Amino acid sequence: MDERINEIAQNIKIVRDNIEKACSRCGRDPKEVTLIAVSKTKPVEDVRAAMAAGMEYFGENKVQELTMKMDTITEPLHWNMIGHLQKNKVKYIVGRAELIHSVDSLDLAQKIQSEAAKKNAVANILLEVNVSGEESKFGIRPEQLEDLVRQIAVLPNVHIKGLMTVAPFTEDPEENRQYFRNLRNLAVDIKSKNIDNVTMSVLSMGMTGDYMVAIEEGATMVRVGTGIFGERNYVC
Ligand SMILES: *Cc1c(COP(=O)(O)O)cnc(C)c1O
Repeated sequence: MDERINEIAQNIKIVRDNIEKACSRCGRDPKEVTLIAVSKTKPVEDVRAAMAAGMEYFGENKVQELTMKMDTITEPLHWNMIGHLQKNKVKYIVGRAELIHSVDSLDLAQKIQSEAAKKNAVANILLEVNVSGEESKFGIRPEQLEDLVRQIAVLPNVHIKGLMTVAPFTEDPEENRQYFRNLRNLAVDIKSKNIDNVTMSVLSMGMTGDYMVAIEEGATMVRVGTGIFGERNYVC
């Protein structure tokens, strides 16, 4: 067990060092980049090990696993829902997850609005954009972004904080640079329109294979699973 705790602590140190290096390459302050430990499929003990190493931001991609971990760990943590969200599960996380990264339809945003209103809460969200155009990916097409932002902006209990993308899996992270750059450009464009109730301060992009490139392209949140907790037993 101690060995596992050490392993996770060491991995976190490596990732943090890499974040610093990427920031210094492009003149950014590492404080601008939030590291989210993606603990999906990993046991609560692993989350505790990461907490012991100073991690405060965690990401999960399934509602049931997210709520189980939130219920089990009572210490205050920043929980992020990063996976595809079904409307019938929205009620379990609104008011609990700090940020929902994966909103990709008006329908879903409206459901979040009604649950948030019931709880007198504000739901912070990101819009997931499929910048690579991969068929298998969730997320809206870039051309749909502005309309969707304007439609969601009028929902009083939903705050758009920025954009998120999942880039293609690749051996060469440089191949994803264009997609990260595209996401940042979309955020700059939306920001310039000064839409009420919309900020574009968060760019959630970059995973284990490509987070350094994502940081060079402006990521403010990177979502790292394998790089912290090791390989997962199954693909999800
Ligand atoms: C699993 C997952 C990650 C982390 O992936 P790694 O390659 O293990 O770092 C990041 N973002 C999303 C949306 C995920 O589902």
